[in-house]
Amino acid sequence: MMEKLSIDIFNDNYKEITQNIARAAEKSGRKYEDITLLAATKTVDVEVINHAIEAGVSFIGENRVQEFLSKYEQYNPVNMHFIGHLQTNKVKDIIDKVSLIHSVDSYRLAEEISRQAVKRNIIVNILLEINIGDEQSKSGFEYDEAVAAVEKIAKLGGIKIKGLMAIPPICATSDENRPYFAKMKKLFIDIGSKKIDNSSMDILSMGMSDDYQVAIEEGATMVRLGTALFGRRNYNI
Ligand SMILES: *Cc1c(COP(=O)(O)O)cnc(C)c1O
Repeated sequence: MMEKLSIDIFNDNYKEITQNIARAAEKSGRKYEDITLLAATKTVDVEVINHAIEAGVSFIGENRVQEFLSKYEQYNPVNMHFIGHLQTNKVKDIIDKVSLIHSVDSYRLAEEISRQAVKRNIIVNILLEINIGDEQSKSGFEYDEAVAAVEKIAKLGGIKIKGLMAIPPICATSDENRPYFAKMKKLFIDIGSKKIDNSSMDILSMGMSDDYQVAIEEGATMVRLGTALFGRRNYNI
């Protein structure tokens, strides 16, 4: 019963979201295909996730290592990303199982990813998380140190920087976040134009359930949606 209900909720939401994405993409001179929809699947049952994958979702992101490890072998074929805060001692558990880590928020974490990647002779794709609202409660690189961070991390072995990720402050309306998204887009372009070796600004991961349309209008290439797709669930994450 529960799963049936969740699947119905997903089906309704998914259709509407794809239309919203297409509309927002158009406003920024792009097309639906230019935007990647990543389903944020924390607390969502594998059965529902697999239904989403069958329906067309081809990127999913988990944000807790333990939950990811308990679920990933049961997923239908899909691109698996890690999007949550990652402790250095957990890097080795996920590094060869995900195709992108969105949440590289410190040099120390980048170093550990590099160390583990070199050990396994693999290249790990990462995004640098920028603390765009300069919030004490959030991790990530400061806006002003982002260029230096990319330059420094790009020198590490076993790593390829593919872009930036941000979670703006919680705002009352999605329009209040517009300046943060615009600032991220500017940074993304600035860093891209520097053509720093071993880095490319391909992915700008920003926008969640409450603000993804604004994020796309301002230049996001990837949005991470949980609640908007799967309905409200119990969060204590
Ligand atoms: C949960 C989560 C999301 C999705 O949040 P919603 O508001 O449910 O869309 C996106 N990004 C990260 C890092 C998350 O942890």
